[in-house]
Amino acid sequence: MSIPKNPDIRVRFAPSPTGYLHVGGLRTALFNYLFAQKNNGSFILRIEDTDRKRYIPGAQEDLLKTIKEVGLDYDEGPIIGGEYGPYIQSERSDLYRKYAQELIDKGAAYYCFCTEERLEKLRNEAKENNTAVMYDGKCRNLSLEEVQEKLARNIPHVIRLKIPKEGSTVFYDVVRERVEVDNALVDDQVIIKSDGFPTYHLANVVDDHLMKISHVIRGEEWLISVPKHIFMYESLGWKVPKFVHLPLLLNPDKTKLSKRQGDVTVEDYLAKGYLPEALINFIALLGWHSSDDREFYTLEELVKAFSLKRISKSGAVFDVEKLNWMNGWYLRNLGLEYIAEKAKPYFEKAGLDISDHKKYLRVVDNARNRAVTITEMIAHSEMFYKNLTFSDEDKDIISKENTKKLFSFLIERLSSQENWSENEIKGLINETIGAVGVKGKELYFPLRLALFGEVHGPDIPTLIDILGTKEAIARLKSVLNA
Ligand code: GLU
Repeated sequence: MSIPKNPDIRVRFAPSPTGYLHVGGLRTALFNYLFAQKNNGSFILRIEDTDRKRYIPGAQEDLLKTIKEVGLDYDEGPIIGGEYGPYIQSERSDLYRKYAQELIDKGAAYYCFCTEERLEKLRNEAKENNTAVMYDGKCRNLSLEEVQEKLARNIPHVIRLKIPKEGSTVFYDVVRERVEVDNALVDDQVIIKSDGFPTYHLANVVDDHLMKISHVIRGEEWLISVPKHIFMYESLGWKVPKFVHLPLLLNPDKTKLSKRQGDVTVEDYLAKGYLPEALINFIALLGWHSSDDREFYTLEELVKAFSLKRISKSGAVFDVEKLNWMNGWYLRNLGLEYIAEKAKPYFEKAGLDISDHKKYLRVVDNARNRAVTITEMIAHSEMFYKNLTFSDEDKDIISKENTKKLFSFLIERLSSQENWSENEIKGLINETIGAVGVKGKELYFPLRLALFGEVHGPDIPTLIDILGTKEAIARLKSVLNA
């Protein structure tokens, strides 16, 4: 029997479908998910696609796929629906216009007929004077008649918030604590654009209210917008949700995390063969840590350990080296069959015939101990499947008289028994040293070349074990008879 959800804890992840999920977005989604799960609340996914200029076909589907792949199941949202849908803002347009009108009626918003040229001029002036770009309020006090006359003439317009110019807005953020912003610094934000679509600010506030969101958990870049949002909540007589602004993600040089310094999209990491488990674990520790500074967590363990109180104020460095280390750990420590399953598409794409499942598992087990990502595992696996090619230098090594004796001896001995265990092969190698009289490099280099194509690599018993006795014999024979 499922326990009913706690109606007091409703959080949302509200991405704009930009074509990819930024790692910062994944962190926001994850913290929302963890908080909801921990408190038996609801985790809502809402698509904020009101910026039609930035519409990218397929972006929304890709986003849903990525969210699913990392295992952050939502309780309400696109496809699955829910009591407060639709969960895609472009399907809610009428609502936003209605509340924009209500804000106008209440004197909290106004029509603005300024032309793009005029606004451009204001922006340029602000830049020249080194001041913040702000609307100068020209249309703030147009009379009702003036407004009606302009609307009747179909003059293009937007709707702006009529932010009070005196006083300040004070609010409490769970992470930043008390925040105070001078109202004179808050711009008369456009809430309905000239194309009739709402801006993020209006749509976000309306939906957070209608969807009964209790806690707004999101990136710190939105902190600056809170006074505008509070102004709308209060003007409409709505309860203001609690705010939780997550610290910035930084590059190792402490600049804001940007694409210039490496990958920032979750899709890129997944495509490269980072495991969702590692990504989630790594991302959870960006701006949050438990009281005992533990490093490794499953998603369920994170749910248990998570608390908003332990989110830090200071920016969190996105250290790819740490992610690599963590991914390597997960590769080695998750179930072999699971890793093999995850790696399958990569092996298939590389054109490797992995139909022999037992051999495939041995190959994967070897590679996962040497690689940091699944993509890297391919480089440690190809030689177990492909025909080997040899350079002239290699040929010199494998065609020596001693080497031929070594190969013949091993072919004969290996053929005497169906399957050799790794331990038995170890014994056999010792036996070979005695019988053929070669050891050290003279033994290992040619053998590794013949079995594996390189002089360095896993030890010989491991190689033979991965290849299987039959294939090992075939490889030795092919080199001997070349
Ligand atoms: N659509 C906004 C974004 O993509 C959401 C910000 C918020 O959570 O309020 O970042």
